[in-house]
Amino acid sequence: MSTPADASSGSPPGLRVSVDLNLCQAYAQCCYAAPRHFRIEGHEALFYDPAPAAEHRADIERARVACPLQAIRVEDPERGA
Ligand code: SF4
Repeated sequence: MSTPADASSGSPPGLRVSVDLNLCQAYAQCCYAAPRHFRIEGHEALFYDPAPAAEHRADIERARVACPLQAIRVEDPERGA
């Protein structure tokens, strides 16, 4: 799992990912869509990368769209979202 990009390094700012765990039902669709960033451990414990690098935008977006409960929120400073 990655860490946020350092703004002073010149690399693009990272994404901010959050999951509403009150909505999440551990369907694991995000894990299939972006296994490097989301995983289920045990029966229902979702672990995820809250600050993936911007280069992983496509994977994160695929996971967000795949979630049947729309529990994944993505903030993308580079795109103003
Ligand atoms: S796809 Fe959505 S509901 Fe399923 S584990 Fe991921 S965040 Fe939770």
